[in-house]
Amino acid sequence: MMAHSVLIDDITKNADCGECQVPRGCRQCPIHQEGATRRVPGHGNPSTPIMFVGEGPGEHEDLFGIPFIGIAGTALTLWLEKMPLKREQVYIANVLKCRPRNNRTPESHECRTCIETHLNREIKMIKPRMMVAVGAVALKALVSDAPGITMARGRWFSYNGIPLTAIFHPAYVLRKKNREFAEVNQQVYRDLMQAYSRLR
Ligand code: URA
Repeated sequence: MMAHSVLIDDITKNADCGECQVPRGCRQCPIHQEGATRRVPGHGNPSTPIMFVGEGPGEHEDLFGIPFIGIAGTALTLWLEKMPLKREQVYIANVLKCRPRNNRTPESHECRTCIETHLNREIKMIKPRMMVAVGAVALKALVSDAPGITMARGRWFSYNGIPLTAIFHPAYVLRKKNREFAEVNQQVYRDLMQAYSRLR
């Protein structure tokens, strides 16, 4: 927990998008009955040009109410630093605001409902110049006709007129071993650098 709380102290600085809060009583989809501890709105710099969107809160995110603060979040933070961006400079959100029971993969109608109810509002507030879908589920939820993540990563799509690219999910990368890990990690790095160069 110590490592996480240090990270949380760091990333909480400058991260205030009061308007992006998720109302407590949201019951728009069946996930509200699945025992999540709290809603997890997006978090970060509301004036950023770049917004990252993952799948949904995991165990740590559910406990602390901040996206990407577990092991996958640490990997994402390290990738950002290589771009080089600090986590406080970007905005990170999820398609889902509540953790589904046992981290089950959300149904497409649940993703759609949460996007329409919450994420689209966040995007309107942040007005990013670019979005990055983190992982296959986020990509599919945002661009329904995109190919699978292996084909789609590093390519450009559009989400309501906003250029959107995709990277592998850190949890997927962290499951790889040895040389395969080095390869996919390098692919993410290249995809992020490519996105970063489009920002300038
Ligand atoms: N995985 C996600 O997609 N989002 C989080 O917030 C944490 C892990």
